[in-house]
Amino acid sequence: MFLVTGGAGFIGSAVVRELIQNADHTVVNVDKLTYAGNLESLAEVEHNPRYHFVQADISDGAAMQQVFNQFKPDVVMHLAAESHVDRSIDGPMEFVQTNIVGTYTLLEAARSYWQGLREPEAKSFRFHHISTDEVYGDLEGTDDLFTEATPYAPSSPYSASKASSDHLVRAWQRTYGLPTLITNCSNNYGPYHFPEKLIPLMILNALAAKRLPVYGNGQQIRDWLYVEDHARALITVATKGEVGETYNIGGHNEKANLEVVQTICDLLQELVPQSTSYRELITFVTDRPGHDHRYAIDASKIEKDLGWTPAETFETGLRKTVQWYLANEAWWKKVQDGSYRGERLGVAAAK
Ligand code: NAD
Repeated sequence: MFLVTGGAGFIGSAVVRELIQNADHTVVNVDKLTYAGNLESLAEVEHNPRYHFVQADISDGAAMQQVFNQFKPDVVMHLAAESHVDRSIDGPMEFVQTNIVGTYTLLEAARSYWQGLREPEAKSFRFHHISTDEVYGDLEGTDDLFTEATPYAPSSPYSASKASSDHLVRAWQRTYGLPTLITNCSNNYGPYHFPEKLIPLMILNALAAKRLPVYGNGQQIRDWLYVEDHARALITVATKGEVGETYNIGGHNEKANLEVVQTICDLLQELVPQSTSYRELITFVTDRPGHDHRYAIDASKIEKDLGWTPAETFETGLRKTVQWYLANEAWWKKVQDGSYRGERLGVAAAK
């Protein structure tokens, strides 16, 4: 039994779909359903008898204890978080609450449950914490890469809260012996991505002939990974990774933000031709405060030790993503008009 927190989010829903559709695992998805939680992203699996949903806040200790006692998970995959950097600058409190206090609360519930287990269940229990490469801060040199040994130097309230949660997880392993694993991944993109994030925002704005806002000069470099490749990497780590270890996950796809936006424009020009160039919609806007210049991951440890490699290149993954948004207007229209919040709750609450 897998306990997935944040399973209604972008990456969490990809993990849940992968666990249910491409393997025969049983899953309980624990999600508060904030604005970022969307049960529509789980429509393909919601009626599967191996899928369960509990709407709860990871900061609610009693609710977490109850989930552990009821579902008796072997593996916890902890993805629930506040995840949007711009929102963390405008309102950091929610990030401290969910990412730090929530992770602490979940760790304590997991510890109490794990300490009550007997062998062999106690030995095989795993708590996998999902984190970001943003905890490492900014890369100075153009050839440098983040490794698992790179010191933490977070820049934004988001990355600082994620860094704190990583430290808590490591401490629970060192101090209490809780069997934990941590992964730090680069920027994800792909289907079911909330339209406030760079790639879906640009696709949908371009389709609506709205301007395409690019921060600063657009030369900030991010290392992009297709979300389904990340989901497979996470399941590989959760099931085969060595307890106590950290694994960096990345796609070897370093791209400047401007290049990403231009590539989206060019793909749209091919798939939805129009007389004017989509590139004309690109507009440079004031840079985000504290904006890191470059992130890039050295993923050789997970590749060498666990045999994971990404299936998609940036070119194939981005094409799939643009095609997905073109084919799934019903999904993103419901996000844009807000009706994704609540419509499926009646179905979910009864499960
Ligand atoms: P997301 O914002 O799409 O989803 C987060 C989910 O967590 C939502 O379903 C939300 O409802 C839920 N949630 C939020 N607060 C909660 C709470 N207090 N209790 C229970 N559920 C709560 O995020 P995502 O992009 O899918 O990211 C998932 C995880 O992966 C995060 O921990 C993030 O830090 C990490 N990560 C993301 C990326 C990326 O590019 N998106 C890259 C590396 C790591």
